[in-house]
Amino acid sequence: MTRVILPNSTIGIFGSGQLGRMTAIEARKMGYRVHTFSPGRDTPTGQVADVETAAPYDDLFEVRTFAQSVDVVTFEFENVPSATIAAAAEFVPVHPRGEILHTTQNRLREKTFLSSNGFPIAGFRRVRTIEDLFKGVEELGLPAVLKTAGFGYDGKGQTRINAHSEIEAAFDALNGQEAVLEQFISFEKEVSVVCARGQEGEFAHYGVIENDHADHILDVSFAPADITNATAKRAVEIARSIAEVFDYVGTFCVEFFLESSGELRVNEIAPRPHNSGHLTFDACVTSQFEQQVRAVCGLPLGSTEYYRPAAMANLLGDIWADGEPNWQAALKDPAVKLHLYGISDPRPGRKMGHLTAAGDSPQKAVEIVRAARERLLVS
Ligand code: AMP
Repeated sequence: MTRVILPNSTIGIFGSGQLGRMTAIEARKMGYRVHTFSPGRDTPTGQVADVETAAPYDDLFEVRTFAQSVDVVTFEFENVPSATIAAAAEFVPVHPRGEILHTTQNRLREKTFLSSNGFPIAGFRRVRTIEDLFKGVEELGLPAVLKTAGFGYDGKGQTRINAHSEIEAAFDALNGQEAVLEQFISFEKEVSVVCARGQEGEFAHYGVIENDHADHILDVSFAPADITNATAKRAVEIARSIAEVFDYVGTFCVEFFLESSGELRVNEIAPRPHNSGHLTFDACVTSQFEQQVRAVCGLPLGSTEYYRPAAMANLLGDIWADGEPNWQAALKDPAVKLHLYGISDPRPGRKMGHLTAAGDSPQKAVEIVRAARERLLVS
């Protein structure tokens, strides 16, 4: 049964990064109050929330205090411990469910869930010992990718193994952590489906978004993806089925590898709004963040219609290497929209913000955001 949380109620968010910030902006636009919980202070989410609790996730006293002061709890960060989620769920509805986070926060659990439910993924093997790794390489072949099972994102904790001589060094780099060995997929493209599921199973999606990565970090996304209608339909169907099997509530994202044969393989599931969906903020009737608010609060989902094709370019801390970026130059093109996350210490590789633009075609939108990002470096 839908539990409706009305405007003026308080949405609790575990995590305090940019995803929470943009969710909070949409929540406040709709008249909700926002309370964020994370170990940090003056965080991207905290800056726009009504209340910011700074405490470790395993401080269950603080977690219970937080849960008692909000009307519903959601996440912008998936590595929240299960005990924390369970403690919050003693007092308020939590969306998505804690079991879903438990599954997706560990690559082995996630891949086991996906393969046992018949979803297409790259071949994988669990690796705990060097013997497991040798055997996995024998069975899956090379090249392969070795990834730590927990706490990996944006290529962190990942090593590509190209030759047998690299196996031992790759294993040593794990430092005793459990890992998953994955077949290397020589994909043609990476695409994602950002979607949302409501409490009664209603489903809305943003079609397929195409993603270019640089150094394993998302660089540019655009929509609609340059793929066939049949592939797009299949990707959306896979995302919808995953949401169904999970009995998911909220916004989520499925990332895929698309091979030149047309085969789609799920790479990862993000149980939250996703970087590739940032372009929905300016390009769609309802952003992925508003959709998250609507789903967890039991309101009808909004239209996912795109006004026009759109693109997004991430801004990493590297852009600050020679001082403040040239914002005026980037915004000279009136089609360009600037999003910054309120982070005051830019570090190389850190996501600081992004640019979006709409265009007559996705390629035109990509040209606009790439050119704008280049102008940031003009002195
Ligand atoms: P992940 O943290 O697993 O999403 O990986 C980050 C990026 O590394 C992906 O978006 C891909 O560009 C690349 N990658 C990860 N796993 C594989 C794989 N099995 N085959 C080819 N490329 C991969």
